[in-house]
Amino acid sequence: MATTSHVPQAAQEEHLARRAVVFEESDWQEFLTDELGTEVRVRYGRARHQVVRVQKVRGKTLVTLSKFFGAAPRDVREALATWMRSGKRARKATRTLDVWIDERVRELAHEAPRGRKLEPRGAHHDLAQLASELEKTEFAEEAGRKWPPIGWGRAQASRSRRSLRLGSYDPVDRVVRLHPVLDSADVPRWMVRYIVFHELLHAVLDRPAHDGHRRIIHGPQFRVRERAYPDFARALEWEREHITGLIRAARAGKPFALGKRSPGRVGQPVPRPAAAKAVQQLLF
Ligand SMILES: [Zn+2]
Repeated sequence: MATTSHVPQAAQEEHLARRAVVFEESDWQEFLTDELGTEVRVRYGRARHQVVRVQKVRGKTLVTLSKFFGAAPRDVREALATWMRSGKRARKATRTLDVWIDERVRELAHEAPRGRKLEPRGAHHDLAQLASELEKTEFAEEAGRKWPPIGWGRAQASRSRRSLRLGSYDPVDRVVRLHPVLDSADVPRWMVRYIVFHELLHAVLDRPAHDGHRRIIHGPQFRVRERAYPDFARALEWEREHITGLIRAARAGKPFALGKRSPGRVGQPVPRPAAAKAVQQLLF
């Protein structure tokens, strides 16, 4: 192999970073112990929702890092040390970390989709089609963004009597899933579209949590945009009306089906619980 001594250091590091783990747990341990002047233990963990975790245990500092920190370039390593010393006051370091973590997370979602391939096309609703429609309309301002893959969750009987998660967005895997209970001719297309919208809005506004950055879900910005969605009100209404049926179908592991109602019940006023709260419990 040719020597790489002529390659500027930054480029060398960049090159190394593209390979497997270059900075082992022990390297991190040595580095952080040195930088912080206190004993630091480091291990790579698998936590998917928190990529950096710092704990104090009997005077010792334990740091759990997502495995991709093995490929952290020097400025990121230094940013982590600075951030551990000063927390969020270290604005530049925090920003460096955020940006780098965000990129890694996206890269991972792109390179190594976990598990089974996501299937966007259901028996009745095509989630990819809904998503691409939304990208051109509601998310026109976010044009050029790389959107997360979307698909139907696995059909399996849910155990909960009280709650149901109709949609989810995983900020680390960057994947949107919808509950298969919704893949039914009895669930209006606009309802499914609203749920896809809700989850894609998470993809636009959320970022994975790490220490000092709790994941903010449904923050003010989120709520403003959600309320501006054309079908928001009728989606809440639909869901309030059918929540019992949705939960029942999910428990049976079947798609939602409209129940036959006795004539006496038609037109009966729907009880009004805190609607917005109810729908938020179903969406993540
Ligand atoms: Zn949500």
